[in-house]
Amino acid sequence: MLNLVLFGPPGAGKGTQSSNIIKEFGLIHLSTGDIFRANIGNSTDLGKLAKSYIDKGQLVPDEVTIEMLKSEVNKFDDPKGFIFDGFPRTKVQAEALDEFLAEKNSKIAGMIALEVPEDELKERLRKRAINSGRTDDADPKIIANRIDVYNKETAPVKVFYKQQDKLHLINGKGSIEEITKAIVKTINAIKD
Ligand code: ADP
Repeated sequence: MLNLVLFGPPGAGKGTQSSNIIKEFGLIHLSTGDIFRANIGNSTDLGKLAKSYIDKGQLVPDEVTIEMLKSEVNKFDDPKGFIFDGFPRTKVQAEALDEFLAEKNSKIAGMIALEVPEDELKERLRKRAINSGRTDDADPKIIANRIDVYNKETAPVKVFYKQQDKLHLINGKGSIEEITKAIVKTINAIKD
């Protein structure tokens, strides 16, 4: 299995880039944000719980998120690999993922971290709010909170993978195609 973590702050372009990459490498895209939103759309218990955090720009608790991620991974029989988008978002989640994959005799091959300056992120999220209908994009205060949570709780996950020599930084500012090319090149290097 080729398992990758696509990492970056809110608005970095993880969703956009994931869809390009899965086509190229035949991987399964698992976005915890998308799974939460699907649950919210279907008004499941998980969705109701997640909404209460997401609408404030907070993280959904680790325990709930980890269980959900595991059960999504387990839905696939003999997968070629996964691209994890929006997960792990805390050090606890990163440790749980390593342990879970080790049980399957697998591992994370690398983390691709998209780097985008904060001003640009805020501008992208503001624009996205107009079309996406995402309540967490609509309010500048909630956006600021998400970026804050990212800096405090999520950025340390980069250090976690750096210590394992698995961190690959990519400039996330530029055209979508240019960024896809840079990511594809990096993944090819990780694979070999
Ligand atoms: P973005 O990266 O643009 O903020 P996502 O779609 O990845 O958006 O996530 C939206 C929201 O879903 C997050 O702000 C958070 O509340 C929740 N969420 C997503 N993934 C996780 C996770 N791994 N752990 C905790 N909460 C999560």
